[in-house]
Amino acid sequence: MPELARRERISPSRTTFSLSVWRGFGLDTLPLSGPRAKIEAMGAPYREQPVDGRRLEPDPAARRKVRLAGATTVALGLGIGATAPMLGPLVAAFGGGLALLGLALFREAPRSPVKASCPSCSAEIAEFERSTETVRCPSCGDYARVVSDMLIAIPDDFIASTPTFAIPLERVVVDLPPICAECGSRNARQLVHLEVYAHGSQLGAAGSSWLVGLPHCAEHASGAAADVASVRVRSRALWLAASGASLPSPLDEGSE
Ligand SMILES: [Zn+2]
Ligand SMILES: [Zn+2]
Repeated sequence: MPELARRERISPSRTTFSLSVWRGFGLDTLPLSGPRAKIEAMGAPYREQPVDGRRLEPDPAARRKVRLAGATTVALGLGIGATAPMLGPLVAAFGGGLALLGLALFREAPRSPVKASCPSCSAEIAEFERSTETVRCPSCGDYARVVSDMLIAIPDDFIASTPTFAIPLERVVVDLPPICAECGSRNARQLVHLEVYAHGSQLGAAGSSWLVGLPHCAEHASGAAADVASVRVRSRALWLAASGASLPSPLDEGSE
């Protein structure tokens, strides 16, 4: 680890370090903790590249909030249970169930939530786990990656380990560029179809759904997953291209 990341402290929450990446071969996603010797043995062209990272900080507020909700539910359940002698066995069962639900909530409070500022817009991203691969900024909508103790900006050609980047349904139904949703290849010639519920989008009332085609290359077919009124894809390149697709280009502006 020390030979891969040289850290230089600037402020408590902001740190820069050098990250060795093997660009252009899809290996940018290599874990930082991987053995450098192994990559060197492969003859990889190394390049030192400064990466802007934000340090993760503990976020005890998240755990406290969930635990408080759990404790409140338990108290409510016990209170209802206590009035049961007057109101009958059904109410007693309801109170008991509520108390158990509260206990479960209390126990399931996130173990060690962290927070960090967004590498893109510096807004705070709260309540996520260190083990998460990516988090989405509620302010600017961009994703950031959790690497060791840092939140870092994601390279444009990044491939997430699961369908992650959410393309709204409104943008999926317009023509998507031929970028493979799974590997980011620019040579995606086939469409893999998914049924997406339109609920909550401008495209339909509750219950209506769309059959949409997601571009994939010849080798892949599972780089996308349906979500409510959106499709998640593994390829950040496709997400970026799709997100920009429905925005007016500078040429379109003023031509009407
Ligand atoms: Zn942001
Ligand atoms: Zn592919």
